[in-house]
Amino acid sequence: MMRAIWYLCIVAAGVIAAVWLANNPGHMRLQWQGYVVETSVALLIAAFALVAVIAAVLYRIWVALRGVPAYIGRARKEGRRRRGYVALTRGMVAVAAGDAAEARAQGERADGLLGDPSLTMLLSAQAAQLNGDDRAAEKFFQAMLERPEMEFLGLRGLLSQAAHREDPIDALVWARRAYQLQPKSEWLAATLFDLLTGQSLWAEAETVLASAIRNKLFAPVVARRRRAVLGHLLSLQAEASGDNSRALKKAKKAFEAAPDFVPGAVHYGHLLVAANKRRKARTVIEQSWLLQPHGDLAAAYWPAVPAQDALDRMKAAQKLTQANTDHFESRLLLAGQALEAGLWGDARRNLQHLTEASEHSSEPLTVTVCTLMAQLEEQESGDLAAARQWLFRVGGAAADLKWVCRDCGNTARPWTPHCGKCQTFDSFDWSRPLNIPVIPLTSQASQTPVTLEAVIDETASPELAAPDLAALPPGTGSQDIDEKSPGA
Ligand SMILES: [Zn+2]
Repeated sequence: MMRAIWYLCIVAAGVIAAVWLANNPGHMRLQWQGYVVETSVALLIAAFALVAVIAAVLYRIWVALRGVPAYIGRARKEGRRRRGYVALTRGMVAVAAGDAAEARAQGERADGLLGDPSLTMLLSAQAAQLNGDDRAAEKFFQAMLERPEMEFLGLRGLLSQAAHREDPIDALVWARRAYQLQPKSEWLAATLFDLLTGQSLWAEAETVLASAIRNKLFAPVVARRRRAVLGHLLSLQAEASGDNSRALKKAKKAFEAAPDFVPGAVHYGHLLVAANKRRKARTVIEQSWLLQPHGDLAAAYWPAVPAQDALDRMKAAQKLTQANTDHFESRLLLAGQALEAGLWGDARRNLQHLTEASEHSSEPLTVTVCTLMAQLEEQESGDLAAARQWLFRVGGAAADLKWVCRDCGNTARPWTPHCGKCQTFDSFDWSRPLNIPVIPLTSQASQTPVTLEAVIDETASPELAAPDLAALPPGTGSQDIDEKSPGA
């Protein structure tokens, strides 16, 4: 707006000056070296103005011509840069497509055109990786470490190289360094955590876990479980080194993170009993039983009561299971304890609940239920025929619950932090193993007298062994048949 007004003012002034000059033309006479020039003042001013305009135009042309070489240089540079980026993009596409030769060619072209290693080094490294030239790739990744802006990319490349050649020691070195640079990277936190737990470096894994939780990198349920498992493992470590106070502190933290993590609760219970805190031990185990009933919890409960004999244990079992009496594991515990205490009525009542539940298919008939029924028939009334019938059913019964690896289906006893087969950390769930072999009952079997030993021999597969009645510690649940207490 101001500009327009200013422009109008100038035009108006010009018009006024022109009109005034037209009205007052005046007269100029110039005499020089014998020449005489006569003209009006207006024409003289117009001639001066024309000369000024021509001079200005010539000056502009001269300035423009002077800038041409620089302009041509800039245009050529821009062209190279554009072609360089096109080569870089094509190289990336070739990497994504797995075309090693094209990736290398475009990488070299981009490098020549752009002349900026920080842009092309990654492509060159990836092209080398695609070509299977690990040494060249490593050289590029190492070179990236020298440039602060590329250091993380270099570390990531070196980490992937180490993972590729299955070298967890080297991978851990690079992952630690990369994590210093990018502690908020989710995949990196997970990778570092896996590497640390894979090498049983529990304390450092706990530090990484704490930082990952602060940065909200793990889902809350995963974070709680991992905190519990690491706390439990650190507690075991502290106990082994004789530091009972630290062991108790870590076990408490583990329990608070996940009270349903049975190995942690069992170990915490043991430590509390050892520290003469029986009441607290009972509370811990009862709380855990409510969330995840498990025979190991019962075994840890007896010294916390303390229960001296079978009748004591039966009473303790009733107290432990009072909040979830109808749970499968509660019934199993009560039946076993009743058998041990010679309380046949209680044993039968609880076992009947389990066998009836299996008829309604809410819970399958398990090996331990069949075995306890056989034991009951034999011990209560000496009814060997009925006992034999139950032992026959062991072959077709469902396997007892076990620690089953959710990744590969491997089973463990007791719980261990790593699966012995696939090496996954914390992969064991308390569940029923799959692919249960069913033992066919042959006619030959029905003709020969059946003994407990014969049935046990027939089912003597490592994964599905029929329990030895004589060795069966009654009342501690299915898992006590073939498992020791974890964390012991
Ligand atoms: Zn596994």
